[in-house]
Amino acid sequence: MRPRTRIAVVGSGPAGLVLARVLHRHGHPVTVLERDPAPDARPPGGTLDLQEGMGQLALEKAGLLAGFQALSRPEGQAMRILDTDGTVLRDWRPRPGERAHPEIDRGQLRDLLLGPLDVQWGRGVTEVVPEGRDGVLVRFADGRQETFDLVIGADGAWSRVRPAVSSATPQYTGVTLVETSLDDVDTRHPDLARLVGDGSVAVYGVNRALVAQRNSGGHVKVYAQFRVELDRHTDPDRHTRHMGPDRRAGLGPADAEAVRSNLLALFDGWAAPVLDLLRHGTTFVRRPLYVLPVPHTWTHVFGVTLLGDAAHLMPPLGAGANLAMLEGAELAESIAAASGPEELDEAVRAFEEQMWARAGRWANITTAGLERLVSPDPSQAIALFDEVQPS
Ligand SMILES: Cc1cc2nc3c(=O)[nH]c(=O)nc-3n(C[C@H](O)[C@H](O)[C@H](O)COP(=O)(O)OP(=O)(O)OC[C@H]3O[C@@H](n4cnc5c(N)ncnc54)[C@H](O)[C@@H]3O)c2cc1C
Repeated sequence: MRPRTRIAVVGSGPAGLVLARVLHRHGHPVTVLERDPAPDARPPGGTLDLQEGMGQLALEKAGLLAGFQALSRPEGQAMRILDTDGTVLRDWRPRPGERAHPEIDRGQLRDLLLGPLDVQWGRGVTEVVPEGRDGVLVRFADGRQETFDLVIGADGAWSRVRPAVSSATPQYTGVTLVETSLDDVDTRHPDLARLVGDGSVAVYGVNRALVAQRNSGGHVKVYAQFRVELDRHTDPDRHTRHMGPDRRAGLGPADAEAVRSNLLALFDGWAAPVLDLLRHGTTFVRRPLYVLPVPHTWTHVFGVTLLGDAAHLMPPLGAGANLAMLEGAELAESIAAASGPEELDEAVRAFEEQMWARAGRWANITTAGLERLVSPDPSQAIALFDEVQPS
């Protein structure tokens, strides 16, 4: 593509950064617009597992596979499943050299991808207006506006780019996840460190589950998951719901104690060491799980497209970031190979068709997976584990 084609990517999550990094590798300038005021303006979130033919392939296309291998934790693939009374039901460990889906902290992945990129921080997009062959107008929260030839919405679940191509909005799945964290677990909570092991521990009960995952530096993220109605009146973070799951800060200390005791009541009767994961959690973040309709397609619009969660928000079962990254790499390669606006438009159309088909398959897999992991019949979760992780 001619370097003077003005390309903007909205969002510096895994999708936007991979796209920008691969374009950068091909010598194509790209403007990255990010609402957060700085890379570390909010906690980056938990660990991600990156699969061989997806997230890792994207990093290879960005020339960053070796960098990933140096940072990632193959031992983090280990997975233990306990019964609610603490009995070990499964204890899977990766073979030496196993690299199917190693874990990496999101913050480490972000810094690896950022590298030489010049992200424009604090540039929240409010609206995107396609104006045919004249370009695409982007409006910002600070009142400014700018025109680009191609605007790529990589701005996640609550995308502000999406309305330019689609009227779809995320719908609540019926499952809410409350995230808490333990720091310095090996010295402060050695019993819990052993319980979690090198990777993850999961416990499945009736319509609820508790999963704890080791991140680097002795940090553990704990996810309590349960089926619950969305109560718009008593939900403590109702005032920030419109900002979407990623934008909400942790609950305040008073709310945190209320959330902790509610969770302990919800998981009452489970083994004491499992409940200790909640007792020692430091902050709590509520993340009701939303999804976009499946399949989510749209009538192609000249000059605008979407990728990642903005295009296909699905339950968090290990596919979302992988798809987002692979799409970012593929779209960047297609853009780099196109010559002229019409060829670029054809490349974007072809990208969308490929993305819709693949993401639709994964959305169905992860939706069915969530039904089985947070299920009235906890044996479904074990059966799912046995299907995807044969010993
Ligand atoms: C608990 C949990 C665990 C998960 N684990 C995994 C896993 O192990 N493997 C996996 O593949 N997936 C996992 N996922 C899913 C994964 O996090 C997402 O699919 C992935 O982050 C999507 O990447 P993205 O770049 O499309 O969007 P995001 O990561 O949401 O990034 C969007 C970016 O856009 C910015 N932005 C938003 N709005 C605007 C705006 N208006 N203007 C400018 N910038 C804006 C945001 O600040 C953000 O930086 C998990 C999700 C959750 C909730």
